[in-house]
Amino acid sequence: MKRNDPTWNPWHGCHKVSEGCKNCFMYYLDEQRGQDGSKISKNKTDWNLPLKKDRQGNFKIKSGEFVRVCMASDFFLEEADEWREEAWDIMRKRPDVTFSLLTKRAHRIKDCLPSDWGDGWANITFAVSCENQKRADERIPYLLELPAKHIWVSLKPFIGEIDLDKYLRSGKIETVLCGGENYAGERPLHHEWVKKIYDQCIKYDVEFIFGQTGNVFIKDGKVYHIKDYKTQIEQALASGFQNRKNPKIKEKQSQNQINQSYSEQLTFLGDEIKMTKEEIIEFIKKQKTSIISSVDDEGYPWTRALIQPRYIDGNDIYFATYTSSNKVSHYRNNSKACIYFYEKGKDFQGVMIKGTMKVLTDQKTKEKFWMPFYKRFYKKGVTDSEYCILKFTCEEAEWFSNFKVETIKM
Ligand code: SF4
Repeated sequence: MKRNDPTWNPWHGCHKVSEGCKNCFMYYLDEQRGQDGSKISKNKTDWNLPLKKDRQGNFKIKSGEFVRVCMASDFFLEEADEWREEAWDIMRKRPDVTFSLLTKRAHRIKDCLPSDWGDGWANITFAVSCENQKRADERIPYLLELPAKHIWVSLKPFIGEIDLDKYLRSGKIETVLCGGENYAGERPLHHEWVKKIYDQCIKYDVEFIFGQTGNVFIKDGKVYHIKDYKTQIEQALASGFQNRKNPKIKEKQSQNQINQSYSEQLTFLGDEIKMTKEEIIEFIKKQKTSIISSVDDEGYPWTRALIQPRYIDGNDIYFATYTSSNKVSHYRNNSKACIYFYEKGKDFQGVMIKGTMKVLTDQKTKEKFWMPFYKRFYKKGVTDSEYCILKFTCEEAEWFSNFKVETIKM
C-alpha cells in the first residue's frame, strides 16, 4: 500500500454508524462543496474505472496496483446492495489488481459475498475500520470468521485505547493501520495507544503502519496540535512505530527517518510548526491563480484574480499586466499590495503575502519577461505601451492551513 494508490469510488455518500464517523472526512469535504454526504448515489463517470482503458488500449489502473475502494462511502452500505453485484463483477475481471474493501459494516460482509467467492478471491483485501475497543470487539470477529485471503484492520481515527492481542494471535490479520483524527476532528491520539498496538504487531509479526498522528497527539501528558498533514505523516514515520513488509516502503521509511530520535522529533513537535520561506515560495510556484489587491484613492481595497506569477526571484515576484488597468493606477499612487494564493485541497491551504508593488515600463524589463503568447493580449508585441510588468516585493507572509495561521517574515 502506498499513499498515492489509486482509488475507485463506485458510489458516493454514507450514513454515520458509530463514534468514528463523527467527523467523517467525506461529510467534511462534501460540506465544503455545498453537498450533503448522506445522499447516496452511484458514480456516473467512474463507475467502471478498473475496466477503463487509455487511448493505447491499456487499462488505466495498471496491473499490480493496490486500489482503495469506496473511500467516499462504505462498500457494504445497505443502499448499495443493488449495485454491489456489478462491482464484484468488475473486480472479478481484474484478478491482476488488488482491491481493498474498507468497511465499518463487517456484519454485512458474509451476506454480501458473490456466489463464486469460495474460500476467497486472492485479489480482495478486507479492511475493517475500528476506532476503539468497543468497535474492534464488535467488528473484528466477523472478519475472522470469513473465508478470505487477506484481512487488514484499520484503526482510523484511533480515538480510544485498543488491545488487539487476541485477534492478532489468530494469525489471520496481515496488516494493522493506524492514524489519528483529521480534517475537522480533534479527538486526540495517545502515543501509548500506538506503542501498544505496535508492540503487539511485533509480537505476532504482523505488518504495522502508523500513517499519521492526526490533529492532536498526546505524549507524556503533553498535547501537540499538528494541523499540517505533512508534519503529521513525518512525525508518524519518525516515531519508529512501523513494521512495514513492503521492501520499497521500508527503504523510503528509513530515508525519511531523518537520523533523529523520536524524542528529538517530539521536541520539534512541541515548537510552533513553521513554514519556511522556501516552502512558501514552492507553494506559490504551484498555484495557477493569484488573487491580487491594491488600494484605491479613497483607501478601499480592490481585489481581482490574475494568472500565476511570471517569475519569482527571492522576495520579488513579477507579473505581466495592462498599463491602463486600475491596479496599475492604484499602485502608482500607493505601492502597498497584498496577494493571496490558495489550494482548495485536503487542508485548504493558502498564503497571503503583503509588501510593495512597483510598476515597471522600461523596455529592458519588458523584454526580459516577455512570453510569445502575450501577443494575444498586447497586439503590438513587446513594445506595446499597454504591456508592463508589476514587481511585487514581499515583506511578510501569513500561512493558513486547516484553521491554523502562521506569520512568516520573508
Ligand atoms: S462509515 Fe465511513 S464513510 Fe460512512 S459515515 Fe462512517 S466514516 Fe463516513
